[in-house]
Amino acid sequence: SHNNHMAKVLTPELYAELCAKSPRSGFTLDDVIQTGVDNPGHSYIMTVGHVAGDEESFEVFEDLFDPIIEHRHGGYKPSNEYKTDLNPDNLQGGDDLDPNYVLSSGVRTGGSIRGFRLPSPRSPTHCSRGERRAIEKLTVETLSSLDGDLAGRYYALKGMTEAEQQQLIDDHFLFDKPVSPLLLASGMACDWPDARGIWHNDNKTFLVWVNEEDHLRVISMQKEGNMKEVFTHFCTSLSHHARPIETLFKSKNYEFMWNPHLGYILTCPSNLGTGLRAGVHINLPHLGKHEKFSEVLKRLQHQKRGTGGVDTAAVGGVFAVSNADCLGFSEVELVQMVVDGVKLLIKMEQRLEQGQAINDLMPAQK
Ligand code: ADP
Ligand code: MG
Repeated sequence: SHNNHMAKVLTPELYAELCAKSPRSGFTLDDVIQTGVDNPGHSYIMTVGHVAGDEESFEVFEDLFDPIIEHRHGGYKPSNEYKTDLNPDNLQGGDDLDPNYVLSSGVRTGGSIRGFRLPSPRSPTHCSRGERRAIEKLTVETLSSLDGDLAGRYYALKGMTEAEQQQLIDDHFLFDKPVSPLLLASGMACDWPDARGIWHNDNKTFLVWVNEEDHLRVISMQKEGNMKEVFTHFCTSLSHHARPIETLFKSKNYEFMWNPHLGYILTCPSNLGTGLRAGVHINLPHLGKHEKFSEVLKRLQHQKRGTGGVDTAAVGGVFAVSNADCLGFSEVELVQMVVDGVKLLIKMEQRLEQGQAINDLMPAQK
């Protein structure tokens, strides 16, 4: 009766078939599903309800993972291939999201470093403290060679005061503390705050989170609604022409987990392929209360959250709205979906401000 993708797919028969299997890391089926067992539901989004311990988990437990990925990522089949397009010139518009409604814009992805286990459940087989420390050291060394616009430095959580930490969280630069059942059940709080931290460039437009939900989270964000600029920044730090970050790791003989079917592999299977989530913090006092709001978001293939992260509720009509899927579409396609979707949301909000109906603006299902 749980409301997550894992619960919809896993049967007693499938459990019996898979519980004897295990990747070389020793990760077990129970480790895979623990978070989905502990978290029966979420108020805003349908969670995946399972995690991977390593790349091999996707093969060993494919009878469970494949149908979940198909449900979660809009029918993505085992024969489908990952798509990518990191050329910001291909994005139409996006520099013009009305700042009266859009408070900030962000694009993020993640990276998992091959050779280290993923930061999954609280079992002896998950990413250890030693592995986290090695990832932190490697990342700090690697990012220290970024220059120009991207030059910056690393701030370890352990080296921050409580007030500094809270300020960064409130400004949305830093991940929140892992206090929600969703994160706790996935082992994200183990040894906290050891080897956790944030690297950012001098003007805080480009950020890398270390050892939060993923080994690495790469984030570009800024105030107001210039999604084009945010995405351009994101691409210059990541793009396939240069891919400075990945190239820098490669120069140290470390690769990111990737394959042609799943693309980039992150801890939670909601984040595969591009691993991209593009979103805005947007003020929708009328639409946010409208009975059709959830249906509109579903049709646009968007999801909503509170602005403090996945486990927060919206306050006073301000929502975090972003793409729901990140596999099967390229980066440009996903950001385009959000840009177009947000424009429509603003149009609907303006209609409602005037006391007018929005029926004729209802979008078709993406
Ligand atoms: P994720 O799926 O990236 O883990 P979370 O909902 O857990 O997402 O939140 C990630 C963090 O990024 C939160 O602290 C949130 O406030 C911040 N964030 C996400 N999108 C934006 C945005 N458009 N503007 C400002 N901050 C953002
Ligand atoms: Mg998060």
